[in-house]
Amino acid sequence: MRKVAILGSTGSIGVNALNVIRELPGRFRVVGLAAHSNSALVAEQAREFGAEVVTMFEDAASARLKKDLVGGARHAPSGVEGLCELASHPGVDVVLTSVVGGVGFAPLLAAIRAGKTVALANKEPMVMAGAQFMREAERWGARIVPVDSEPSAIFQCVQGLNPDPKAVAPLKTIRRVLLTASGGAFGSYEGDLADVTPAQAMNHPTWKMGKKITIDCATLMNKGFELIEIMNLFGLKREQVEIVIHPQSIFHSGVEFSDGSVLAQMGLPDMKLPIQYGLTFPERATRVIEPLDLVKIGTLDFKRPDFTRFPCLSLACEAARKGGGMPAVLSAADEVAVEAFIARAIRFTDIPRVVEKTMAAYTVSGGLPSFQEVVEIDAWARAKAKEHLR
Ligand code: MG
Repeated sequence: MRKVAILGSTGSIGVNALNVIRELPGRFRVVGLAAHSNSALVAEQAREFGAEVVTMFEDAASARLKKDLVGGARHAPSGVEGLCELASHPGVDVVLTSVVGGVGFAPLLAAIRAGKTVALANKEPMVMAGAQFMREAERWGARIVPVDSEPSAIFQCVQGLNPDPKAVAPLKTIRRVLLTASGGAFGSYEGDLADVTPAQAMNHPTWKMGKKITIDCATLMNKGFELIEIMNLFGLKREQVEIVIHPQSIFHSGVEFSDGSVLAQMGLPDMKLPIQYGLTFPERATRVIEPLDLVKIGTLDFKRPDFTRFPCLSLACEAARKGGGMPAVLSAADEVAVEAFIARAIRFTDIPRVVEKTMAAYTVSGGLPSFQEVVEIDAWARAKAKEHLR
């Protein structure tokens, strides 16, 4: 029985993970649950799954949970401290990280240093310091299994390849990765993007997800983050990744090998599959999603992204090329800008403007920053981005 902790159990990934666990009885034990503020749902989840440790990120929610959930579970401290406690809990094998944004940085590091298998849905930390996290994972014998649909697709395509370059089929035989994007809420929108509302940006054509990631899909920043994430996960160079718009979200991404053969992972857009694979890896369990009916779908379309209309994608590519602390600056500035857009303090087209100005104020120096330096760069970039909101 695999023992699981879920960081972000009330979001769309967390809820779907519990659906997967419910559908595979006897396979998992839910040891820990953590969420931001929905204490009522955490209490319900903790009772159903018999969680041993629970925590809420917000202090007030933590107090509510203590009142709601009497007996049984132990309450870890609120805030990042509690997330880190769950992530490194000795009774946990797999940590699913599905919190939103840079807040997942310290818990990811804690899980890695405790040698856990990390089912990773929270991509921002892998943007901020992905190469450092991969190195740290190797050092502590931890394993990172991406849960995000496209990185999971690539991960599934390279199973059987060996990281050792002298192996029969080394990871080095990857020539190119085809990273697909749905195009987000405005993929086929022809109006002025300066006038769009948060509600319009939240209207994603194929995936139902949380606010931050859905806005990131609408600006295409999400694809830029995935570019940086997969470069770090699979040791790729910027020019080895081709970003392709694919509105149906059926071809979840593919890998071209040295001989020109392309393997792709396909399926209906349903996060339950990559979540389940993240939890059961390296095994495959029973089918959790509807079967793929290619005839019913009929057509799969592909086109190049519009880097001019969606400047966030260009900014992410620039951060990927510059490396060092720049991806952390990109991620922090985006988080500040997206929050401001959701609060209707800035326009949709101000998001790339804030990110660009923040990046312009930062100079990459030296090699890869340490984890501590990344935390400092993140704090600096958040403060700088806030200056540019005005
Ligand atoms: Mg994705």
